Amino acid sequence: MTSPTAASPPQSRMRAVLRRLRAAYPDAQTALDFDSPWELLIAVMLSAQTTDARVNMVTPALLARYPDPESLAAADQDDVARLIFTTGFHNQKARAIRGTAAAVLERYHGEVPRRLDDLVTLPGVGRKTAAVVLGNAYGRQQGIAVDTHVLLLTRRLGFTEEIDPVKVERVLQELVPRSRCTLVTHLFISHGRAICMARNPRCLDCVLYSLCPDGQRRYPGRPAPTQMLAYLASGESFTTSPVCGAWMNWPLPTYIPTWPGPTTVGSKNTRSPGMRSLTATGVPSWNWNAA
Ligand code: SF4
Repeated sequence: MTSPTAASPPQSRMRAVLRRLRAAYPDAQTALDFDSPWELLIAVMLSAQTTDARVNMVTPALLARYPDPESLAAADQDDVARLIFTTGFHNQKARAIRGTAAAVLERYHGEVPRRLDDLVTLPGVGRKTAAVVLGNAYGRQQGIAVDTHVLLLTRRLGFTEEIDPVKVERVLQELVPRSRCTLVTHLFISHGRAICMARNPRCLDCVLYSLCPDGQRRYPGRPAPTQMLAYLASGESFTTSPVCGAWMNWPLPTYIPTWPGPTTVGSKNTRSPGMRSLTATGVPSWNWNAA
């Protein structure tokens, strides 16, 4: 088996992307706190244009005062807006969650619907929110939530040139197994936050470099992590710049889940502060093409 490259067909590249990201982010999941589908629905609606951490700060007080659709539907608009003020757009969000509470109460007997087509009829609930709720609260893989990280990473990896989230979702649904529809969002968001930022993506620290046309355009001819490891296995030493120095601190199984050797290699280069020398010690022979 040969390793997929940036020029491989999308299906095999996506398989490799998911494999590497699952190894890199084994605990990837939503950062929003919730105990029920209703709580998750409210949290996701509040998370627009703010961070999950910020949402987690306001939901305890909000849900303590208005724990269910019934109480929230009857709540005072100004009081709800005050409780969620720090998430931004507090007036619009207060109207939306109160409207959704009323709709869930009237049309779905107070139960958050389990179908994407029903969820998107609720005020302020789009496909992204619906997919997150279905995947994380009900374990139903009915859509792929496409946020800015997912959109950017999908484009950079060359799977599409679309910028419309709905069209990007369709592209992803063609490539991602149904059972991974929720996971792919968490993986792409984790990678977008840690490595593939909108500005200055850290391509030289990236487990996807060898699969990524955009990364290779930015850093043509630079060794990918797997290439660096191949140098190591061949007994050569290799010096990294401070830019890619962080690479060294990643456990090697992050890059190659079946890696049989030591979990980290390398040492600080004391003669040249800021640079690190990697040397191959005790690295077993290894079939790089099968990685
Ligand atoms: S190689 Fe660069 S552009 Fe490609 S996924 Fe990694 S960080 Fe993003």
